[in-house]
Amino acid sequence: MHGVDLHTHSNISDGTLSPEQLVHAAIEKGIHTLALTDHDTMDGLSLAQQSAQGTDLRIISGVEISSQWARPATQKSYGVHIVALNMQNPEPMLILLEQQKHIRAIRAKQICDLLMPLIGQDIYAEVIAKVDGIADRITRTHIAKTLVEKKIVSRAQQAFDKYIKEGKKAYVKFDGLALAETIEVIHASGGYAVLAHPTKYDLSATNIRYLIEIFAQFGGDAVELPPAMEPASSRQMVDRMIAEHGLKVSVGSDFHGDHMPWIRLGNIPRLKEGQVGIWESFK
Ligand code: AMP
Ligand code: MN
Ligand code: MN
Ligand code: MN
Repeated sequence: MHGVDLHTHSNISDGTLSPEQLVHAAIEKGIHTLALTDHDTMDGLSLAQQSAQGTDLRIISGVEISSQWARPATQKSYGVHIVALNMQNPEPMLILLEQQKHIRAIRAKQICDLLMPLIGQDIYAEVIAKVDGIADRITRTHIAKTLVEKKIVSRAQQAFDKYIKEGKKAYVKFDGLALAETIEVIHASGGYAVLAHPTKYDLSATNIRYLIEIFAQFGGDAVELPPAMEPASSRQMVDRMIAEHGLKVSVGSDFHGDHMPWIRLGNIPRLKEGQVGIWESFK
């Protein structure tokens, strides 16, 4: 599995490398199977495929979908990221993404409007300039970066902690497609549904276990292995849930270029004995 990276971002969403630069970086790293998984968009795919033409690098179609899941007991809804991989017939996915892009564009403006009284200025023009004027590509990372550039905060993390993460005054929930329907659309597109970074949500261990169980019940295919730097106890818990529900595993770095320089392209955890990589199912 060395040479596989199934979770990466380009500057079509909140990465800093263009799809072409990402492909060249992947080739330099010795990666042979790369999925470009930008947030709620597949607009970078054809650029990546063109750049990889004539090389040994295989590009897997992908997208990271902002989905949501509600615990039946409390009806509280949680944002979850579902990575869709290897779609053979992307039409249903492209229709869903039109809706997701619309939500993303409106939400970016809402976040900037909520920020205005808090920071005393309107940063929307600077934010949208970061995505070449294409509002449906704006992520909270772009908003956080703008707040750093304007010296309103000193680091991007501070922008989340002070203003734009859940519970803060300029937080706007991403009202994306529900988990079951997200998995359905991925399957209708001939792809595989992967639960991204299961330990990165603000969920208790009990809720993570429950999320993985529900994901499996809804027909989800694989769970992304947490990176090696995560505590062993969390990683073992995820390993147990994967085994218990007969799920496959996916591996991806969640590379974002210079926006998150501590994440290296192609840096993925090892599989435990008995785990089966979802990429073995790719046609
Ligand atoms: P969005 O899809 O617009 O909500 O933006 C998601 C991006 O924001 C992800 O790629 C994360 O890397 C980043 N992000 C989300 N939550 C946080 C957080 N609490 N701290 C730092 N970065 C975050
Ligand atoms: Mn991101
Ligand atoms: Mn994510
Ligand atoms: Mn990601």
